[in-house]
Amino acid sequence: MSPLLGCIADDFTGATDLAAMLAGEGMRVVQHIGPAFADTPGADALVVALKSRTAPVEAAVAESVAALDRLREAGCRQFYFKYCSTFDSTPEGNIGPVADALLDRLGGGQAVVCPAAPVNGRTVYQGHLFVGDRLLSESGMRDHPLTPMRDPDLVRVLSAQTSGRVGLVPFEAVRQGAQGVSAALNDLTARFAVVDALTDDDLRAIGTAVADHPLVTGAAGLAMGLPDNFRRAGLLSTHDADIPPAAAGRTVILAGSCSPATLAQLDVLRGHIPVFDLDLENGVDADHALAWTRAQQEGAPLAIAASAPPEKVRRLQERWGRAAAGTLVEDTLATLAEELVGSGVRRLVVAGGETSGAVVTRLGVSSLRIGPEIDPGVPWTWSERDGEPLLLALKSGNFGAPDFFVKALVPPGRG
Ligand code: ADP
Repeated sequence: MSPLLGCIADDFTGATDLAAMLAGEGMRVVQHIGPAFADTPGADALVVALKSRTAPVEAAVAESVAALDRLREAGCRQFYFKYCSTFDSTPEGNIGPVADALLDRLGGGQAVVCPAAPVNGRTVYQGHLFVGDRLLSESGMRDHPLTPMRDPDLVRVLSAQTSGRVGLVPFEAVRQGAQGVSAALNDLTARFAVVDALTDDDLRAIGTAVADHPLVTGAAGLAMGLPDNFRRAGLLSTHDADIPPAAAGRTVILAGSCSPATLAQLDVLRGHIPVFDLDLENGVDADHALAWTRAQQEGAPLAIAASAPPEKVRRLQERWGRAAAGTLVEDTLATLAEELVGSGVRRLVVAGGETSGAVVTRLGVSSLRIGPEIDPGVPWTWSERDGEPLLLALKSGNFGAPDFFVKALVPPGRG
């Protein structure tokens, strides 16, 4: 049978977050890297991971439309555009232009927009995005190296990125459940409907209300209500999550996220295993990290981090420019991943969305199976490399409890 749900994620950790959500809801999920993928028998949902969040607008649109076309060809009947739960974007895009292009390709109509992820403290109220008890603009996203978010009003942020009308389905409608959401969507003439959501129940109600929408847009949370729509239609049965195979050797953590969560997780990790800090501003680069790695005890877990607080990030950006500084760091971590996997490492944990994209692309991984979660939104995934399993955990910078990296040191699977 053909897959049911075809998903397009604007970064790699977002893709695994969404894939884990769908797997947790009983779907068999395969994640593909990039839009040119082979047929995938037996999958209920396909997730295409793109690195389009901070790409030039035209490139992001072209890749997303190519992914949509391929997912349609594969037989998917509903489509999901996954972006970050902190709505990471710039005044030019890419959420608005990509959503516009996907909706046009699917024949127009209306799409909901809801980045809420209550499990990670992201809620939307009166169209405003909260991170925990702070507005988005007062969260760590204020100083994100690539997509600083300084306006919490999603209607306003999205309106700047699209010429389509953006409206709001307020919490008063959402609290009445799926019927309330449907009625409010029908009354709204807007092309994009930002929808409030505070809890998983709200997300499930919205999910039920959009059963017939060709395109749904959100963070991973909103997808939780979609599998039940297919079940109600008699198209889907429930499957247990897959267990990854055992992989020998040491675990290596590569951190390129500068989010407060990742910085705190690194601090906890330092009490447990050796951590090498890259310092590209002062010439401490991949070669130094590799020499350090070779000097460590065989088989013991290690971490290498570029992650740094805002003042240090700013210094590198002032020297190279924002985009070039990001690319320089991402290339360094991708080179390290390539060298480490080349020397036999088969379990890698990568922190940072863009960073994960750079690493997975450099490793030439083409698709990932989805295993159990380490923390919400961060599953172990695996692919095959030279006949052996390669396990990857791709963590969005903001995700995970303070002891995330410590938990990730425990190999998953059958043992
Ligand atoms: P997150 O998931 O937290 O958004 P990303 O990997 O998507 O993390 O983004 C972090 C960006 O910051 C990447 O482009 C990374 O290369 C860059 N970066 C990491 N460390 C530094 C540093 N020390 N100086 C400048 N930029 C950095």
